Amino acid sequence: MSKFWSPIVHALTPYVPGEQPKIQNLIKLNTNENPYGPSPKVIAALQAEAADSLRLYPDPDSSRMKAAIAEYHGLQTNQIFVGNGSDEVLAHIFQALLKHDHPLLFPDITYSFYPVYCGLYGIQYETVPLDAQFEIAIDDYLRPNGGIIFPNPNAPTGIPLPLAEIERLLQANKDSVVVVDEAYVDFGTESAVALVSRYPNVLVTHTYSKSRSLAGLRIGYAVGDAGLIEALIRVKDSFNSYPIDRFAEAGAVAALQDDDYFQQTRQQVIAAREQLVSNLRALGFEVLPSGANFIFARHPQYAGEQLAAALREQAVIVRHFKKPARIADFLRITIGNDTQNQVLVKALRGVLQA
Ligand code: PMP
Repeated sequence: MSKFWSPIVHALTPYVPGEQPKIQNLIKLNTNENPYGPSPKVIAALQAEAADSLRLYPDPDSSRMKAAIAEYHGLQTNQIFVGNGSDEVLAHIFQALLKHDHPLLFPDITYSFYPVYCGLYGIQYETVPLDAQFEIAIDDYLRPNGGIIFPNPNAPTGIPLPLAEIERLLQANKDSVVVVDEAYVDFGTESAVALVSRYPNVLVTHTYSKSRSLAGLRIGYAVGDAGLIEALIRVKDSFNSYPIDRFAEAGAVAALQDDDYFQQTRQQVIAAREQLVSNLRALGFEVLPSGANFIFARHPQYAGEQLAAALREQAVIVRHFKKPARIADFLRITIGNDTQNQVLVKALRGVLQA
């Protein structure tokens, strides 16, 4: 801390990312990465890019990536905004579209970056409690607001909200922007992308960090009405007019072109999740319904922190949140490959029997 800091930096509580351990041979189930690595076509595209053109600046409009995404979703390129991971895309959304006189609304249990952006950009917000089943209750958002944001499926619960509920919200909420953060949507949750051409106030964000297995390349994007996208471009051009680097663009385009690999790996993750859910239920865990590549589970007899520490001693790391108190007994566990999931279940069985 120093006297030179601006007041906003003094007041900030920065986001704490999940641990990226420095030691090898851990079963790493704590940050929702994909166990299967990217498509081999992505690696080939990165090699070609390295050989050809690193001397040159990237395309400030990310035209190739926007064209590929537009084709994939059946949209126009002016409905697409690209950034370094969806975290950066969200930062631009908060700054460009969510600061108004009324408070921004988001769930009380959700992605913990949202309050950090509010602090950074001076946005007032109110949290809306999840219901007794840990679900988002749309009726609680139907009041004057400066914007609404939630992940679907929600994080860290993993619970999906049906598309019909999002449409019901959009029917009732026409005067502010609704952001649906679909970081985990490809693992069995209905996407709201189809709504963006019908509602001028909905933005949907996606990432390539999860279902495309490219967390290391930092690729995210938003889709929405061209008027909303224009606001994001204004902010981007005032911040860093080169949104993503050459590797990221080449890798993203190659990943989109290998749909077979994408479908195969995401189905593998979904099947492994179902298997893991039934194994954990057999051990006495309560597991919330998941439409994501992670599950949120608690055991009636063991504190979450105690379980996470015991797993760590056996070289398995999962995510545990101390706050809010309502979720302090849960573990958020990323779906690994079959071997990793088996090691996890065996380790938990050992802890519970000890
Ligand atoms: N939204 C949610 C709900 C997330 O959990 C994450 C991952 N931490 C992100 C967005 C950001 O992902 P990325 O920046 O890797 O695209």
